[in-house]
Amino acid sequence: MSVKHEQSARAFREAKNFIPGGVNSPVRSFGAVGGVPPFIARAAGSKIIDIDGNEYIDYVGSWGPMILGHAYPAVTEALQQAVLNGTSYGAPTLLETELAKLINELMPSMELVRMVNSGTEATMSALRLARAFTGRNKILKFVGCYHGHHDSLLVKAGSGAATLGIPNSPGVPDSIAGNTLTVAYNDITELRSVFAEMGQDIAAVIIEPVAGNMGLVLPKQGYLGAVRQLTEQYGALLIFDEVMCGFRVALGGAQSVYGVKPDLTCLGKVIGGGLPVAAYGGRRDIMEHIAPAGAVYQAGTLSGNPLAMTAGIVTLKLISQIPETPRQPDFFHKLTAKTKQLCQGLQAQAAKFELKLQFHQAGSMFGLFFSDKAVDDYDSAKQSDAGAFNTYFHAMLEQGVYLAPSQFEASFMSAAHTDEDIAATIAASAIAFARVAD
Ligand code: PLP
Repeated sequence: MSVKHEQSARAFREAKNFIPGGVNSPVRSFGAVGGVPPFIARAAGSKIIDIDGNEYIDYVGSWGPMILGHAYPAVTEALQQAVLNGTSYGAPTLLETELAKLINELMPSMELVRMVNSGTEATMSALRLARAFTGRNKILKFVGCYHGHHDSLLVKAGSGAATLGIPNSPGVPDSIAGNTLTVAYNDITELRSVFAEMGQDIAAVIIEPVAGNMGLVLPKQGYLGAVRQLTEQYGALLIFDEVMCGFRVALGGAQSVYGVKPDLTCLGKVIGGGLPVAAYGGRRDIMEHIAPAGAVYQAGTLSGNPLAMTAGIVTLKLISQIPETPRQPDFFHKLTAKTKQLCQGLQAQAAKFELKLQFHQAGSMFGLFFSDKAVDDYDSAKQSDAGAFNTYFHAMLEQGVYLAPSQFEASFMSAAHTDEDIAATIAASAIAFARVAD
């Protein structure tokens, strides 16, 4: 495939005149890998098409939400119907309860659910609630986990913040960052010693139970259970940030896979089916402190927006085989198998060039590190070869495979990816790995 970028290059220059860095979210700018980001004109199924007419097999999926693929007919048709009823009312609707109920059925730990518009809002609100509930100020997060861009959590953060080398952003007051404790992911000894020292001050521990923002990093066996035990022992709340891994690693999220029940959970991405929806929820006795049931204030003009609820409801019903909907037997089983097929294919190609890579997979999330050592935290993720990743990334893009433009991001499979897509991706990787090995 010959890739031309003239239109995108022009659009990028023009965008920079009006938008900081030309993009509305930093990692879209290709800052880490260099080059021109394709400006997208449209998307369908597993493909995105840019304004130069290039078509790519898309493994970014809008950074996670597009689990059914792009422009999935049942979703777009429902949206077309919904839009005729108006786009926003700022008043209660049946749709909000329907989505909350669906979430509760699929993730029973979320006894009460509050809808918001972004994952950032979800984690920000969950922290406020945890602080109010416990009467404590400190929160604890893990180095390389990303929970959105609000002040308390933009401390040693992953994702775009790690990609751009600004895990601690200017503008976050020391007085706020000082209340955020950080420890290495997967290191229970370090966590124990922080709790031993400051456990009585910690309102909550927030964690990506499957971490997708330092590349894909899985929790070690028993780790999440140990985190749960420590938080209980010291009276801190445990918040699972499943914005990315919820409805990705399994229908019931990481909490169902690892058998650990958090006090609060944050969701986003898949639950909005590609529209701006996120949510936080959990134990009824805690959530009842949220206004107007309780005194902890949190609100939103567009929260529970009817279009967004519609896309979320259709998506969750389709992926969860709930009766009365078109049945999708074994949705997660198939998606996971497909992801495994791709990872094994990539792995086999890498082996031909004797490249030492670390492949990780959790359900329909996957990632690879150009490293010969195990990657189980941010430090080990950072030791992987960024130059090799950039070579691989651009070689894949040139061949029509769109991966996340950073080593510190996970990739996503969708139900729309075909065997042909997977075969084409594996074939492209042979050329890309050869270039890396050169
Ligand atoms: N939490 C996690 C685990 C995420 O991956 C993200 C975004 O990628 C967020 C929170 C923030 O979500 P949003 O970008 O919708 O604010």
